[in-house]
Amino acid sequence: MSVLVVGTVAFDAIETPFGKTDKIVGGAATYICLASSFFTKKINLVSVVGEDFPTTAIEMLKSKSVDIKGLQIKKGEKTFFWSGKYHNNMNTRDTLDTQLNVLENFNPIVPEEFKESEFLMLGNLMPSVQKKVLDQMKEKPKLVVLDTMNFWMDNFMDDLKKALKDVDVLTINDEEARQLSGEYSLVKAAKKILTKGPKYIIIKKGEHGALLFSKEKVFFAPALPLEEVFDPTGAGDSFAGGFIGYLEKTKDISFENMKRAVIYGSAMASFSVEKFGTKKLTEINQKQVNERIKRFVNLVSFDLDLK
Ligand code: AMP
Repeated sequence: MSVLVVGTVAFDAIETPFGKTDKIVGGAATYICLASSFFTKKINLVSVVGEDFPTTAIEMLKSKSVDIKGLQIKKGEKTFFWSGKYHNNMNTRDTLDTQLNVLENFNPIVPEEFKESEFLMLGNLMPSVQKKVLDQMKEKPKLVVLDTMNFWMDNFMDDLKKALKDVDVLTINDEEARQLSGEYSLVKAAKKILTKGPKYIIIKKGEHGALLFSKEKVFFAPALPLEEVFDPTGAGDSFAGGFIGYLEKTKDISFENMKRAVIYGSAMASFSVEKFGTKKLTEINQKQVNERIKRFVNLVSFDLDLK
């Protein structure tokens, strides 16, 4: 089995109350691949970069078991660029600049060997591109997860609604759930979105954790209270990578197992925010991941005698 990941591989420039970076390597797919690599050694990437993208970053992905056969490198073109500035609460941010560059005319080509991947992670990208990847699969994957953001809702809502029809799990943040549904209550928003295609929806609430909804059930996972948060960029993508990576590893897509996957996703997100960009995800080891999972278990377990 394997995970097929599509999403941006990008340059980011980030500003937080703790500092500022020039162009660094980022992108939704980069974070997803790095986070998944702690759970599965079969990660297939479909994306696009320009000639300006460093080969060292591509080598770094290869060293994390990412198969880059589906990564197009466009001669004479520039890599997708995003720049954002976080507010003092670190939960909200303004996008300062989005330069689509190579994404503008991106036609994703899924290599033959990738077409039977059983887990498909449609990371944040143009909804029409996400759909094109899904349509190239030999048969419907065991699980299709889609992540998106307000940028695509603002500009390509119809395409997004089309893509959602074939999705099993949608991951979005609270504001995006409100925008997509037109409902303020997250419970009402989830109910409405669950009539549009997805069987499950995960609503991410930054430092306030994440909610997993099915039609009948709901599960809440906290975020780990951290002493230092340097850069929330990629938290959502690291979450998605941990979530789908764990499901691929365990091959169990029941609601009960998705609860565990949400905890693994939250653990990967908690690492990601501790340093700028993808740095922390490239430094940690399996032992640290296991220790962090234990901290999550301790955080939420308690004894109770109801009598
Ligand atoms: P997150 O903080 O989880 O929303 O992810 C941030 C990452 O998403 C950054 O590394 C950006 O390069 C990437 N990104 C920003 N805007 C977009 C967009 N409109 N579509 C796809 N990826 C984006």
